[in-house]
Amino acid sequence: MQSIHSTARRFTAGILLSLAAAGPAAAQKVPAFDNSSLDKNIKPCHDFDGFANQGWKKNNPIPGTDSRWGAFNELDKANKEVRLKSIIHEIAGKTGLAKGTEEQQISDYYASFLDTATIEKRGISPLKTWIDKINSTKNLADWAKITGELQNIGVSTWTGFAVEGDLKDSKINAVYGGQDGLSLGERSYYERTDSSTQNVRKEFVAHVNKMFALAGFPEKNPGQTILDFESALAKLQLTNVQLRDPVKTYNKIGYPELNTLAPEFDWDGFTKVQDIRTDTLVLQDKGYITNGAKLLKATSLATLKTWSKFQLLTTFAGFLPKKFDDENFRFFATVMTGRKAQRPRIDRAIRSADGVLGMPLGKLFAKKYFPESSKQKVSDMIENVRAVYGERIDQLAWMSPETKQMAHKKLKAFTYKIGYPDSWKDYSAIDVQRDKLLENVISTTKFRTAEKIGKIGKPVDRSEWLMTPQTVNAYYNPLNNEIVFPAGILQPPFFNPDADDAINYGGIIAVIGHEFTHGFDDQGSQFDADGNLQNWWTEADRKNFDDLAKHYIDYFGSLEPLSGFKINGALTIGENIADLGGLTLAYYALKKSFEGKTEPAAIDGFTWQQRFFLGWAQVWHANITDAALRNQIQTDPHSPARFRINGPMPHLKEFHDAWHCGEGDAMVLPQAQRVVIW
Ligand SMILES: [Zn+2]
Repeated sequence: MQSIHSTARRFTAGILLSLAAAGPAAAQKVPAFDNSSLDKNIKPCHDFDGFANQGWKKNNPIPGTDSRWGAFNELDKANKEVRLKSIIHEIAGKTGLAKGTEEQQISDYYASFLDTATIEKRGISPLKTWIDKINSTKNLADWAKITGELQNIGVSTWTGFAVEGDLKDSKINAVYGGQDGLSLGERSYYERTDSSTQNVRKEFVAHVNKMFALAGFPEKNPGQTILDFESALAKLQLTNVQLRDPVKTYNKIGYPELNTLAPEFDWDGFTKVQDIRTDTLVLQDKGYITNGAKLLKATSLATLKTWSKFQLLTTFAGFLPKKFDDENFRFFATVMTGRKAQRPRIDRAIRSADGVLGMPLGKLFAKKYFPESSKQKVSDMIENVRAVYGERIDQLAWMSPETKQMAHKKLKAFTYKIGYPDSWKDYSAIDVQRDKLLENVISTTKFRTAEKIGKIGKPVDRSEWLMTPQTVNAYYNPLNNEIVFPAGILQPPFFNPDADDAINYGGIIAVIGHEFTHGFDDQGSQFDADGNLQNWWTEADRKNFDDLAKHYIDYFGSLEPLSGFKINGALTIGENIADLGGLTLAYYALKKSFEGKTEPAAIDGFTWQQRFFLGWAQVWHANITDAALRNQIQTDPHSPARFRINGPMPHLKEFHDAWHCGEGDAMVLPQAQRVVIW
């Protein structure tokens, strides 16, 4: 989910395919499906989201502290504000905790976040060294070196490095270099001419000016300076759709070639301070590196310094005195996503501790809240979905036997992780002090940076988790060809041991199907069984797949959640394919589970087929502010929640049969326009 502060940004965005952008843990019994969620005045064949969820939407307005509200948020709130809170409060009451232990780190971090008197007293003095460094910059080479140092503490600049498995040799880590530095997150915010986007830019200028005034910096109208610079930078960047192409964004070069591509920038100074030593690296886009360095050369040093100062302030604003924190929230939360108020400080302290010490907290969370019995249950469910996927592959009319054989090979090779990591890393080197919030954040960022740098050239650790156990989400990692289900999502309404099968199949099993399908979506399908970016398709089959995907891109591209803001079909294609595939796999896995048995009777007047789709709709019930919806459409590869329900249904014969929908209903597309991929 988009957070206001991001201390560790990813450059190979799109490689990790998660289930959802945003993310309850309820100890009490939850009904399988709550009928008060329904609105029976709306016909299921006309608007399924409306039928299944309008009652829920009316009864569950978005809290002022949030920009959207749905099942992910409910579960996330319970995980943090009930479960993590109870863990943290238990630790916070202890005394004499040994330095470097997880309990000491969590306890002292929490205390440092709550100690607002000390935060106010210290002002921006914890950033003084960095501000002085930026101010003392004499030339572009100096600036390159300083921005390299700033990267070590999580402050962005125009480019940055990630260390992950080599897409073409997935067992070894490689260094990736990519684009970065846009405060508004995505280039369309600098280019769109509609009034709401223009207003975002206007508010951004005012925001930067306010932050500089609060900090006592002397620059005149720094907001416009930064907007102009970032607008120029945005023009050079790949779009988020272009970034989805793993082939075009894989450009391996020898390290010295950086100096040929972009001689204007002092690469040695920039990489040396980051301790990056590598013979090769993979660039997202050589053109960006060349043109970006030219832009820097053509930009005044004063502008670059102003920009770096803002990047520094914005990275740490949430850990500074209230006036900075409030202004940062006003722009990034209120203007950008429609949130009206900050959460209570205690809840923020928990979320912040989760953000910086997520794994140490996750260890305690998993021990206390994840029943071991769930592992076996989920593992059985995964194997059921795998078996059904195999059968579906055999039945595909558009795929040749040759490619089917390879698809089976990949399907067999999928591995999975459930709940929490088998082994825990040693975090004892993170220095956490009770009275130094900002330094604590820097200390954890430095730890992560060092960890990242330490991976360069080493074998990939396939046991590593890329989400914490308490996260309400799931992911597919194409490089490991693995699907991962954190403990956080293995709870109602996704996984409810008290619910009937149909509801769980529409929930967690469809989620499992979704993650499996990522291995065969527009990106995942380009990776082989070993996690390498290597084609395993015949040319004709690839064309068939691409044609089907193109139809689905055009279909989603025609949907308009908000006037003037259509869904970006090409950006969301991977997630949309995964939803369509996940629903299909889960439906047939449920059907298969009844083989040789008496089918279950209807519950509350709904057949198992109908309850399956209600289960899916329940997972995606949600309210969202207009600003957050615009933000999601522009930046998020996931379609808005309403369209994760109403988007695929018109294509699914299984849905039409379940609800007796016919030609002419909104949830029914003419046969020729329907897309069935998996
Ligand atoms: Zn997904």
